[in-house]
Amino acid sequence: MTWFRRDLRTRDNPALLDALADGPTLPLFVLDPALWDPAGPSRRAYLVASLRALRRDVPLSVLEGDPVEQVLAAAQEVGATRVHVAADYGPYGARRDEAVEKALAEEGIELVRTGSPYAVAPGRVRNGSGAMYKVFTPFSKAWADHGWRGPVDAPDDPAWRHLKETVDLPDVDLPDGLELPEAGEEAALAAWQDFLDGPLSDYDGDRDRPGVAGTSRMSHHLKYGEIHPRTILADLGQKRSKGAETYRSEIAWREFYADVLHHHPESAREYYRPEYAKMHYDEPDEAFEAWVEGRTGFPVVDAGMRQLRATGWVHNRVRMIVASFLVKDLHVEWQHGARHFMHWLVDGDLASNQHGWQWTAGCGTDAAPYFRVFNPTSQGERFDKRGDYIRRWVPELADPEQVPDPHDPDSDTRDLVGYPAPIVDHKAERQEALDRWNAIR
Ligand SMILES: Cc1cc2nc3c(=O)[nH]c(=O)nc-3n(C[C@H](O)[C@H](O)[C@H](O)COP(=O)(O)OP(=O)(O)OC[C@H]3O[C@@H](n4cnc5c(N)ncnc54)[C@H](O)[C@@H]3O)c2cc1C
Repeated sequence: MTWFRRDLRTRDNPALLDALADGPTLPLFVLDPALWDPAGPSRRAYLVASLRALRRDVPLSVLEGDPVEQVLAAAQEVGATRVHVAADYGPYGARRDEAVEKALAEEGIELVRTGSPYAVAPGRVRNGSGAMYKVFTPFSKAWADHGWRGPVDAPDDPAWRHLKETVDLPDVDLPDGLELPEAGEEAALAAWQDFLDGPLSDYDGDRDRPGVAGTSRMSHHLKYGEIHPRTILADLGQKRSKGAETYRSEIAWREFYADVLHHHPESAREYYRPEYAKMHYDEPDEAFEAWVEGRTGFPVVDAGMRQLRATGWVHNRVRMIVASFLVKDLHVEWQHGARHFMHWLVDGDLASNQHGWQWTAGCGTDAAPYFRVFNPTSQGERFDKRGDYIRRWVPELADPEQVPDPHDPDSDTRDLVGYPAPIVDHKAERQEALDRWNAIR
């Protein structure tokens, strides 16, 4: 039996190959309320779409409920002696798998872990004294030195088994205005090929420009394992450009954060650097609501927050800008923003999200120094020079004749087009943030 979780693909899936090598295999997915209930509409809808796509190649049986009971029941129904999975290193997934492993073992069934959603399993890369790396650059060097296997092929002529009764995949209604990218392995491989043949060569320069389609949009495909990073890294290995080198380093950030979360599962909720918990923060109030709804009066912040609600994705540069704004201009704790992101992001991933937030909030491992406070207006001017991104996502500011300066429209223009005045004075809030920080140093 093979139990799919974050590996919704047939190619480059060693756990699936191992299962099929044992003989006819039951492919199972369990809709787990512990993961389903807290997920927002983006991840629920995308997961269902991805499972439907997988079903084109694999006759997946789907059950619903506590995996400890469901996996055991399925294994017993088909008389499986081994249940094959890719190891899960997230705090919940690792605990769940231990519980499933124990329940299976009591019935003489083995849980076999092969591979993980990463090129190098979290916990593997260690420094000279056997400890985790706390800083990205040495981690990424050691990670590259450790290396990884090449991708494996899709199964050839697989023999499947199925359960007598399974549940239907639920239909998920998306809120008005939210449109998600296409899910599934085919979509992932096609998007990756397009990126490889096109934007990758200019990735090094374009990746920081939210108005340009210069990044790969692989994050949701990686999140659900519709493509494995090994496949990506193998293709990058054939390229000799600066773009390929930088892209590999971004994949390494994903692996770094998974490693940090593996060693510090508590950092999913708590400050990685505990001294930051002592800082004075404000409770989320109407300013937080304005941030959520994209009406802070800071164009690039509002563009990002509206892109999130419209697509379930936000450009990385803008994720940093909106996160910095929440923490350092509105003085709200990063966890509130991280929760909002996890609710709406299609690629919402505990390791990358929580540590992306902690990085921006200055309290993470190898984080941006707290005193480096992003100015949301000049960030927009610098990275979205022509204002294309702002005009795309903030329709009030779309018309260049009405709004010649989309980064900082004057108050008459704001009144004319119905765009709000800034909800805070950035200069004053920057000073306030530094004062609060100085108080804990
Ligand atoms: C506050 C904040 C929250 C974030 N939340 C998430 C999240 O929930 N899920 C998520 O996958 N990424 C998250 N990121 C990282 C990054 O923003 C996204 O991975 C990236 O924007 C996805 O778009 P892309 O695939 O086009 O990226 P590309 O630029 O094409 O990058 C390629 C891949 O590298 C990885 N990657 C790139 N940057 C990072 C990074 N900083 N940290 C970790 N991995 C990275 C991703 O897997 C990405 O798909 C967050 C960053 C910040 C600052």
